Amino acid sequence: MTIFQRIIAREIPATIVYEDDQCLAFRDINPQAPVHILVIPKKPLARVGESEPTDTPLLGHLLVTATEIARREKIDRSGYRLVINNGPDAGESVPHLHVHLIGGRPMGWPPG
Ligand code: AMP
Repeated sequence: MTIFQRIIAREIPATIVYEDDQCLAFRDINPQAPVHILVIPKKPLARVGESEPTDTPLLGHLLVTATEIARREKIDRSGYRLVINNGPDAGESVPHLHVHLIGGRPMGWPPG
């Protein structure tokens, strides 16, 4: 069981900001910006690269939920970044799909 599955199961604490039947969102423990929230599916999908066509509604729901949280966090006008790290070169460290919602400061491009 991954650390994110344990957060879903309330076995370890997290600062949860949103929950519905399909997903959970909580603040990143090592924030890279004033707002850094992870939006994860409750379904244990390891990474976006392992999604299947039947996951299309779920993936859309994660993105739409992230935009709603951005509005609640009041970063929708200043801007924000949604990031999904997939695999070693991208720096994926937890094998449970998560969308990073990052905002509250200007960001450079491309990422390092
Ligand atoms: P990634 O590198 O894309 O796999 O992102 C994993 C993210 O999970 C990192 O930004 C970590 O800081 C974050 N993280 C790891 N453990 C926890 C935790 N217990 N609660 C909240 N965020 C966590």
